[in-house]
Amino acid sequence: MKDIIIITGAGKGIGRAIAIDFAQRAAQNEQFHPVLVLSSRTAGDLEEVAGLCQDIGTETMIAETDIADPKATETLVSMTMEKFGRIDCLVNNAGVGRFKALTEITEEDFDYTMNVNAKGTFFLTQKVFPIMQQQRSGHIVFISSIAAETAFKSSSVYSMSKFAQNGLIASLRLYARECNVRVTNVMPGAVYTPMWGESGEHFKDVMMMPEDIASATVGAYLQPERTCIEEIVVRPTGGDINS
Ligand code: NAP
Repeated sequence: MKDIIIITGAGKGIGRAIAIDFAQRAAQNEQFHPVLVLSSRTAGDLEEVAGLCQDIGTETMIAETDIADPKATETLVSMTMEKFGRIDCLVNNAGVGRFKALTEITEEDFDYTMNVNAKGTFFLTQKVFPIMQQQRSGHIVFISSIAAETAFKSSSVYSMSKFAQNGLIASLRLYARECNVRVTNVMPGAVYTPMWGESGEHFKDVMMMPEDIASATVGAYLQPERTCIEEIVVRPTGGDINS
């Protein structure tokens, strides 16, 4: 049977690496046939990732979606259901960060961050969970952050949005346990991705790579269905970057 897997923010960074990891695992495992529904706002990125996954032998579908828009996520879910009739995994990876001093955060920074990380993630999860509830199977993964538990001076609104995700995860888990649905909270420390912009180059040597997070995440999905890896905390071996 095919595993229908939606990955948000699949065009860059950690989401891109998760898509490629799923495809690579499938190439090594005859029993595993993922279909990757790749979503983000940038079609060009998605086409590039879809091409890489297809070259490895994995079927993909591209869904250009702004997850901050509940109508767009409704379309993402209905398109997936029309085409495949089920959803086995949702990777809530899409996320944004505006890293500045607390006093410099504008209302636009606040709304932008909260609309993607908190509101967008909430409403997409709210649409997918009842499908899994009915299937009595499925797996919802959140790429949250260590900033959901540890605050940094520059992370005020980002931390707020990730603490909010942890609140959603804790509540969702109570429903999910009743219907055989797995929920995994992946909390990475600093990872070298486009999210860091130019400052990423400065810290590159003390950061993790997107593939490191992807391998832990896909590993959790590939556990036997009876086993739920509920939390994964991954940090650079040297600890957090103090920003
Ligand atoms: P990234 O390299 O900036 O990639 C983010 C992805 O999300 C892109 O594909 C982006 O594509 C997509 N995205 C952003 N806003 C979106 C929206 N409104 N709708 C749909 N897609 C959207 O970031 P990353 O570092 O891989 O981060 C991925 C996740 O890991 C985030 O949730 C982040 O908070 C978390 N995380 C990152 C780090 C780190 O150090 N990098 C550490 C801990 C946790 P478009 O812009 O084209 O839409």
